[in-house]
Amino acid sequence: MGEADDITVMVAALRGKFGAASVLTGEDAQAQAHGWSDFGTPLAVVRPRSTAETAEMLLAFTEKGVPIVPWGGKTGLVGGGSATGAVAISFDRMAVVEMIDSVDRIMLVEAGCTVQAASEAAEAKGMFFPLDLGSGGSATIGGVVSTNAGGLRVLRFGMMREQVLGLEVVLADGSIVSALHPLMKNNTGYDIKQLFIGAEGTLGVVTRAMLRLRPALPSRSTALLGLNSFAHVATLLVELERRLGGMLSTYELMWAETYRMATSPPSRPRPILPNGYGYYVLVEAMGGDQDADRERFEAALAEIMESGIIADAVVAQSEREADDMWSVRHDGELTELAPFVAVDVSLRVSVIAEYVDTLRAEIEALWPGSRTALVGHIGDGNIHVVVSLEKDDTADRRKAISEAVMNCTARFQGSISAEHGIGLDKRNYLSMSRSAAEIEVMRAIKRALDPRNLMNPGKVLPPVPGKVCA
Ligand SMILES: Cc1cc2nc3c(=O)[nH]c(=O)nc-3n(C[C@H](O)[C@H](O)[C@H](O)COP(=O)(O)OP(=O)(O)OC[C@H]3O[C@@H](n4cnc5c(N)ncnc54)[C@H](O)[C@@H]3O)c2cc1C
Repeated sequence: MGEADDITVMVAALRGKFGAASVLTGEDAQAQAHGWSDFGTPLAVVRPRSTAETAEMLLAFTEKGVPIVPWGGKTGLVGGGSATGAVAISFDRMAVVEMIDSVDRIMLVEAGCTVQAASEAAEAKGMFFPLDLGSGGSATIGGVVSTNAGGLRVLRFGMMREQVLGLEVVLADGSIVSALHPLMKNNTGYDIKQLFIGAEGTLGVVTRAMLRLRPALPSRSTALLGLNSFAHVATLLVELERRLGGMLSTYELMWAETYRMATSPPSRPRPILPNGYGYYVLVEAMGGDQDADRERFEAALAEIMESGIIADAVVAQSEREADDMWSVRHDGELTELAPFVAVDVSLRVSVIAEYVDTLRAEIEALWPGSRTALVGHIGDGNIHVVVSLEKDDTADRRKAISEAVMNCTARFQGSISAEHGIGLDKRNYLSMSRSAAEIEVMRAIKRALDPRNLMNPGKVLPPVPGKVCA
């Protein structure tokens, strides 16, 4: 029997056991292969309803040597879900919030639950799940665990890694590792969950997660600030953290050009502060007492403004005004630059000004006339670099620009992926941010858990010429 016959037999067996809707093939499978990057041409898409079903379905394929690619909300931006020649496991039928406990401040969710649904369920119980991404309506818990997603509140609450207390995963051999520990402190040997957080499905599939919650923080103070130098942007961050005593939750930066585009037609938002400043910072503080928190927030801004660090400021006077400020960040479009290539990197805040000058000069020298815009979760040193392309630019040009951005980032000892992961798109550049010794440890872990290289093969780790496994 050939591979195609094998797949047909396995599909029929799984359908017989779990129902027709549990396995999609042909056009039905292909119809699912759409998202924010290339999801390829899967051999089939399986849709388990539980961890036990996941294990059984996965093993049916891996024991025949068929690779598995997990799919969440398909909002990943680095090609990590590309499933050509593999069977995709979709978690769209595992989206239940199983438990919320407001005393232990924990939540148990299935992998296919969206970030938004998890957040809303927490909110309904007076609790707060802090991960906040533009893609939260589609991105799933399994996906954000597997990419260790960041977003808009990392400065205060950390990345997804900091929200995970325990995980349940299925390994390549079909074994289930149920480590849904609900404890914040648990120093009992190796912390196994950490292996799977940020592994992009290359070590196993995540089926359920025990997440840490916080009590709801009802107060929100938001301001948009105009500044004239990057040195001021860096100083302001430290000053606000100092004066707000841990309440600062967001520190988002738009460079002047980005702000102008985000607030001019065809973008929907309109300027809240006038154009003309070098930098625009959106800050937000969260706390438990709206009046007292707001007073403290405004006093901190006023004091800093007196020292000349802030050139202009608008403090939101209502939820609606706060939403309008957020809309500049979320809904502002960079249409003038389209088509463009966007690269997610991170750097120490202290080198960002020099990095940006160097990068702009290098891009201009290599591709005269191309434009570079920048926006960032700057509180965590995370910048998204956006470089315009010509309409007829090829994939080669796109790749060359990304490479130039990553090269420059590496020279400044930054990370070539701050929060989006490595996937397929950045695997050949991993050594720009990780040493040979680090990559060898990654390969050793991969070999130990997935010796036949069947779990999302070809992602994260650069291929070794002449070798099938990691
Ligand atoms: C508009 C927009 C805004 C975004 N903003 C942010 C942001 O602010 N911060 C940020 O960090 N990212 C952001 N992203 C990127 C993206 O949303 C994240 O990478 C997210 O974590 C992907 O989740 P997903 O469920 O869509 O996963 P997918 O795209 O389906 O998969 C991503 C990777 O995880 C693996 N995977 C998925 N589910 C599982 C599972 N259950 N078990 C094991 N592996 C799995 C996949 O194989 C793949 O390698 C944004 C994307 C978009 C489109």
